[in-house]
Order: sequence, then C-alpha cells, then structure tokens
Amino acid sequence: MKALDELNFDNRFARLGDAFSTHVLPEPLDAPRLVVASEAAMALLDLDPAVVETPVFAELFGGHKLWAEAEPRAMVYSGHQFGGYTPQLGDGRGLLLGEVYNAAGEHWDLHLKGAGMTPYSRMGDGRAVLRSSIREFLASEALHALGIPSSRALCVIGSDTPVWREKQERGAMVLRMAHSHIRFGHFEYFYYTKKPEQQALLAVHVLNLHYPECREQPEPYLAMFREIVERNAELIAKWQAYGFCHGVMNTDNMSILGITFDFGPFAFLDDFDAHFICNHSDHEGRYSFSNQVPIGQWNLSALAQALTPFISVDALKEALGLYLPLYQANYLDLMRRRLGLTTAEDDDQHLVERLLKLMQNSGVDYTLFFRRLGDESAALAVARLRDDFVDLAGFDAWAEQYKARVARDGDYSEEQRRARMHAVNPLYILRNYLAQNAIAAAESGDYSEVRRLHEVLSRPFEEQAGMEQYAQRPPDWGKHLEISCSS
Ligand code: AMP
Ligand code: MG
Repeated sequence: MKALDELNFDNRFARLGDAFSTHVLPEPLDAPRLVVASEAAMALLDLDPAVVETPVFAELFGGHKLWAEAEPRAMVYSGHQFGGYTPQLGDGRGLLLGEVYNAAGEHWDLHLKGAGMTPYSRMGDGRAVLRSSIREFLASEALHALGIPSSRALCVIGSDTPVWREKQERGAMVLRMAHSHIRFGHFEYFYYTKKPEQQALLAVHVLNLHYPECREQPEPYLAMFREIVERNAELIAKWQAYGFCHGVMNTDNMSILGITFDFGPFAFLDDFDAHFICNHSDHEGRYSFSNQVPIGQWNLSALAQALTPFISVDALKEALGLYLPLYQANYLDLMRRRLGLTTAEDDDQHLVERLLKLMQNSGVDYTLFFRRLGDESAALAVARLRDDFVDLAGFDAWAEQYKARVARDGDYSEEQRRARMHAVNPLYILRNYLAQNAIAAAESGDYSEVRRLHEVLSRPFEEQAGMEQYAQRPPDWGKHLEISCSS
C-alpha cells in the first residue's frame, strides 16, 4: 500500500511531444475539499485508502500541488460532433497529469477534469461544476460495478470557486483514470490536418501500448482496427442490455480502448423507452437510446476514414461489417442471461423484442422487471409482474411463451435460477433522480448522500440491508428529468 508521494510515473503520451499535447499547469480551486473518493479506484494505484484523510489529497486533486514526476498536458484532438466535423477540439478543461504504473505493471492515466483553461478551451472557462463532476464520478464507478467497461474515477474535489453556467455554481474537479485517454478524434485530428508523420507516431503508440497482441498479426493495424470494432460492438451491446444512454456519442467522446468515456447528460432508463433522448439539446434524437447502435457504427466509420493511410479501404469496410453481427450476438447473449436462459434457441430474439414492445407500451421499469423476474419461479414471477402491464392479453401470451421456453431450457432449482439471474440483473442502478438528490445535498455542503449512493452502486447485484429506497421506481418529479448539457 502506497502513500500519495510514492506513486511511480512513466509519462508515455507526454513524451510524444508538443504536436500531441501542450504543457499546462492546473489552476487551483479555492478551498478544495473531498466530496467523494473511490477506494476501488485507489486500489488500482496501490494507494492506501487512508490517504483520503490527509490534507494533501484534496490539494493534489484540487490543482494546488503536483508530483515532481507529473507532466500535466492538455491533449489535442478533433471530432465529429452531432455529425459535423469540428477541426480542433482538445482538452479544453482537462489535463493528463501523468501515467502511473502500479505493482502489477498496469499504467493508469491520471486525468484532472475541470483544471482550468488550456489552449483548447475555445469559448469555455476551463471549469467543471460540482453537479457534473459528481455525475461523472458516480457513473464511471457504477458502470464498472455492472461489468460495463468504463473510465474510472478516483475522486471529486469540491470548492468555493464560483463558476457561471445558467446560474452561479461552484467549481469542482474529478480525477479520471483510464489506460488511455486517446479518442477516435485524436486520429481524426492528424488525418484532417494532414500530418502523416504525427499520425503514424500516434498509430504506433496505440498499437504498441494498447494492442500489443496485434503486432503478431500479418496486418497489425488492421488487426487493431478489428479489435476496436469488436470492443465497441461489445460495449454498446452492454449499454443496450442495461439501459444506459450515453447522450453525446461524438467521435471525440469515443475511446480508442472501447470503454465508456466522457460523461455528459447520460441516463439509465427508468421506464423502458427505446426512443428515449437523455440530452435535451439533441432535438433530432441523433443519440437516442436505440440510435446508439447505428451511431456506434457511424463513429467507427469516421475512425476508419482516419485510418485509410494505414489500411486499405476494402479491409476497413470488411472490418466494419463485423460490427452489427457482433453487436447482435453480444446483445442477445446478455438478454438471454437477463431472462435466466442458459441455452440458445432461434426464436429468442423474437422473445426479447416482444417483451420490450410490451414494456414500452406500459412504461414498465426496465431494471426492476428483470430483477423481479428472477425472484421466484418463472410461473410465479410472471403472475406477479402481470399487474405492471396495460396490455394484459399481450403479456399473457408472452408469459406463456416464456414459461415454455424456460421449461425447455433446463432443469434447475429455484435457488439456482435466482442466484444466476440476480448475478446479472442489478437491483440498484444510477437513476437520474438518485443522482439529483445526492447533488442537491452536496450543493448545500452535505456529501453523505453522494458517498452512500456510490457505496450502494458499487455492489449493484447484492441486496443491501436498509437500502430499499435506492431500489424503487422514481417518484413523479424524478421521471424524465431534463439534464442540462452545460457542465
Ligand atoms: P464535452 O461536450 O464535454 O465532450 O466537450 C466538448 C469539447 O468542449 C471538449 O473539447 C471539451 O474539452 C470542451 N469543453 C467543454 N466544456 C468546457 C469548458 N467549460 N471550458 C473549456 N472547454 C470546455
Ligand atoms: Mg468530450
């Protein structure tokens, strides 16, 4: 277990040089204080959990102090935002402080979001507010606990620094961690600015550090792109199976590692709604829940375009063709498990689609339905869940089909069924209204609710004593909350 000053740095991205990032020092927050920290994320750095109690913790992650070995850099990238190309973006308010390696030899980027202005800030102030920092922290750690690949979050530091959004708020910083912060937009930047040498350096960097197994393949870059396609297909299958809506799937928010990345107005579905749009400035529904699937492919095509200097167009097209079938196979596999099925039948896709249509029509709670379905035998569970549906005849027909399917699936005890289903169907999910409650308390200086919610969500599959209030449908005020895009 390490103290904060014992971290080992190896700043591989910074060493790529000034064409890739710019040295910028964090701009300290006034009166920095710990809002919440993740012990699980600290463990990835071998940090002793007791370090959160030391004053230097909030000083380091509130921008007041730096390790001697850190090399804070704002990265440059570009990207397609809502379908249109923006030629230069970059870390407008985040800094890659450095890369830390742990005892197991894993490298983790330490990235401080809300660290002040950079050369890429454009019209922005370089800051992040408390509410969006808390949302990013909770979502990163909750997704990870659900088994959905995501960037991680070490802590949120609050402050007295005033920040103007629709109204005056307080600045905060979130310390984000990932094996890399390289986005699709990094490749697009060097492609569209016609800098082939830097683009080649970036490609070698990503291949060597993040896809070393692809170097053994006859065409390493093609193998790497295929792997990126596969990871994205798997990631988006998980989002869809668990009802996660990212909200801003611009190519600058897509990680080259295929992890969930850059959190804005995201939401987990409460009622099932395939057309749900969580970003209230997304008027066309480009990033609606069900559109995430084709948009995943659209984004991979944008990356493919930027990789044409390294890979033939035909090979790129063939690799892109893997996306949909892989997505469908992964999604169906997850949904079978959510339904408690252990075998595969041709008609399962249809079984899932019919259920979702019924849930959509009746506004059934997406998370609780699957959890309750595993509480008891299939026959008892569907009899109890029936009340949630408006189209009773439709549900009864589905329930008959489901019970017959379960009977053909295998002979297992009720206990086995419950254990298997509860291991994949969370009881607790980061509902927007729960985040909202925690944020309201934190904004008035009480961080206990954020910490409790983080705790509960770190074990989403386990029923936790005294935590019933986190496993409820939202109250009326908490449904369809409009989450501001400003953050
Ligand atoms: P996002 O919508 O958070 O993915 O941000 C899109 C782009 O705007 C990124 O380049 C961000 O770094 C930048 N950005 C967002 N908010 C700010 C801000 N308050 N100050 C400076 N840049 C920002
Ligand atoms: Mg972004």
